[in-house]
Amino acid sequence: MDQGTGGTRGITPLQIMSDGEQPVAAPVGTPVPAPADEQRTDARVVIVGSGPAGLTAAIYAARANLEPIVLGGYEAGGQLMITSEVENFPGFPEGIQGPELMDRMRAQATRFGALVLDVDVERVDFSRRPFRLWAGGVEYTAQTVIVASGASAIWLELESETRLRGRGVSACATCDGFFFRDRKVVVVGGGDSALEEALFLTKYAREVVVVHRRDQFRGSRIMQERALSNPRIRVAWNSQVVEVLGDQQVSGVRLRDTVTGEERVEPTDGVFVAIGHRPNTGVFRDWLDTDPKGYLSVHEETATRIEGVFVAGDVRDHRYRQAITAAGDGCRAAIDAEHWLAEHGLAEPATASAW
Ligand SMILES: Cc1cc2nc3c(=O)[nH]c(=O)nc-3n(C[C@H](O)[C@H](O)[C@H](O)COP(=O)(O)OP(=O)(O)OC[C@H]3O[C@@H](n4cnc5c(N)ncnc54)[C@H](O)[C@@H]3O)c2cc1C
Repeated sequence: MDQGTGGTRGITPLQIMSDGEQPVAAPVGTPVPAPADEQRTDARVVIVGSGPAGLTAAIYAARANLEPIVLGGYEAGGQLMITSEVENFPGFPEGIQGPELMDRMRAQATRFGALVLDVDVERVDFSRRPFRLWAGGVEYTAQTVIVASGASAIWLELESETRLRGRGVSACATCDGFFFRDRKVVVVGGGDSALEEALFLTKYAREVVVVHRRDQFRGSRIMQERALSNPRIRVAWNSQVVEVLGDQQVSGVRLRDTVTGEERVEPTDGVFVAIGHRPNTGVFRDWLDTDPKGYLSVHEETATRIEGVFVAGDVRDHRYRQAITAAGDGCRAAIDAEHWLAEHGLAEPATASAW
């Protein structure tokens, strides 16, 4: 579950050097000493994003001696920084806090020589190599670029929703549904992904109320039939969440009838906001192809239409959207970038995949 921070902008991610050798995880908010090579602005691999995809790419590229620069964004660590318990990432049988998992990935990347900077890329020029990227007023150059800028869940933008994120409010049923065994939950939305989330949640919750602003769903017929015939799903038509109720934990939602304006309280233990995700593609849209949903398209494996530019993680994936799939994608992109560099005489062949 997420923690109600309302985003990670401004949180300094967490990697301190204990003895000048081994990076260790530090608690959220610990100031980070500036890396000695912070002035480095040219690299064979520049990675955009420091979520699971970007940092896994960094681990692989760094272990291949490519000394990557990660322009990780102000929202350092990505989506898992607003999550508390992660129970489905392999290797952590007791679960792990999202920020701690990201600290560990970052420490692992820097241990092998990746330079991770918490700056947003504002502009890129992919017209020729070396590629150029501008971030925080500095120009960076790169022989290859891995775009791992992720996606952001779209929230209702209610103050009460932000306050109760991680205390019953979530945007990911696959991630957090398990915590609502035998409970009642509300799903907000009316598209296919909302119906998918609702159907998924019926595996755990005893009752799922889908709150939708209109009097019919936008989703496909088959999904509608599945949802409407499921005995655990009820629909609150023409309804809009105007407030999430609860002090420390969600206890209900205040709904407004979009036709009559009348308000009523629907008690619930959880609220899943399923009104969509926005891929973070703004600075790349002029250069890279997007699919009909606005996510970056790949042409062959992780490669894009621009030779030497690769893509990984949620910025191209609206189907799986998991930390492990993003990490796997980051690994693939780093190996593809390394092969590309080797083919162009810019790297030793096949070190990223050597273990
Ligand atoms: C509330 C919640 C709970 C979740 N729980 C789980 C879970 O339990 N298990 C699980 O497997 N998955 C979970 N997920 C999904 C998981 O977080 C994502 O699938 C995963 O983080 C995607 O990784 P990514 O690296 O592709 O992108 P992100 O994590 O979105 O990271 C994107 C990175 O790109 C950076 N960025 C964006 N734009 C720019 C730019 N212009 N310049 C530089 N950097 C930029 C951001 O700052 C960020 O560092 C959860 C998601 C949410 C929202």
